[in-house]
Amino acid sequence: MEEKLITIKNNAISLILEAKNLKETEEIRIQFLGRNGEITQLLKTLPKLSKNERPKLGSLVNEVKNIIEDTLTIRVRDLKNNKSNNVNLSKFDITEPITESDRKLGHLHLVTQAIREITAIFNEIGFTRVRYPEIEWDWYAFTSLNFPTNHPARDDWETFFIEAPVDEKKGPVLLTPHTSSGQVREMKKGKLPIKMLNIAKTYRRQSDVSHTPMFHQFEGLVVGENIAISDLKGTLNYFVKSYFGENRKSRIRPYHFQFTEPSFEVDITCGVCLGKGCRLCKEGWLELGGAGMVHPAVLKFGNIDPEKYSGFAFGWGVERVLMMKEGIKIDDLRILYSNDMDFLKQF
Ligand SMILES: [Zn+2]
Repeated sequence: MEEKLITIKNNAISLILEAKNLKETEEIRIQFLGRNGEITQLLKTLPKLSKNERPKLGSLVNEVKNIIEDTLTIRVRDLKNNKSNNVNLSKFDITEPITESDRKLGHLHLVTQAIREITAIFNEIGFTRVRYPEIEWDWYAFTSLNFPTNHPARDDWETFFIEAPVDEKKGPVLLTPHTSSGQVREMKKGKLPIKMLNIAKTYRRQSDVSHTPMFHQFEGLVVGENIAISDLKGTLNYFVKSYFGENRKSRIRPYHFQFTEPSFEVDITCGVCLGKGCRLCKEGWLELGGAGMVHPAVLKFGNIDPEKYSGFAFGWGVERVLMMKEGIKIDDLRILYSNDMDFLKQF
């Protein structure tokens, strides 16, 4: 059957390229894709195949069908543009200017688009985007964020460590497991108030349908006088409505993180059922990520007086918010980094 498909494909393509007018292209369409066309007939035989053969041949038939459809579309367009000359590689002139319709422009990757959108949303309320090293000292990633020496996140199984000399004060070198490592770096600049948005690559030892070893996080940090939980809640609400849409709501639940006190887990209403509960979300809410009021110990590590100043922080996954956005359905997060053009072209 595979050989038969290849013969059909080659036959179809040469016929299409030789078609002299729209009547001929239509006849070819009927011959291959029409109700009794060769491809249509093959599609009908698929259910009779064994379970092992079916998926492979099924996708092959569809691939050939798409190729024939695409070639037909291009030929029809060329005929309409009066390009009567057949596509002939030996006569292909690389200096010929291309027409506007031939121009295939690429676009920014889905994740880059999301990063730009998130940056623009936070710019509106005064956050400045910063970037800090992604190869970082343990001290900035863990110690200064109030992680005890024996915390499991420091384990080799969670974090990628770099083979480099260990610093007496700052410890070993690692790939940042979270964007929170930028918090104390920002504080140490010594400029208050702080309204930081740190978006960067982060790395953890994980790979499954909802995790990739490299992913992106965006970290917000606000430090100043009289910063309260209500400021955190207001910022979260603003982001949720700007990014996900006016009809989505957010809530915070008590949680535990080393570097915030109190700490919260932030949820947003499900985009499908809007909070009523459905098969996807079960209870109407989806988990967005962590947030909280900056722990006094962390402020001290950043040379900021916790008696005088307070702040809040949040750190969420870019890929995660992307997947939770209305109208975007990604079954396996890893496809974002697989260079699959068919997938990427959709966005
Ligand atoms: Zn739902």
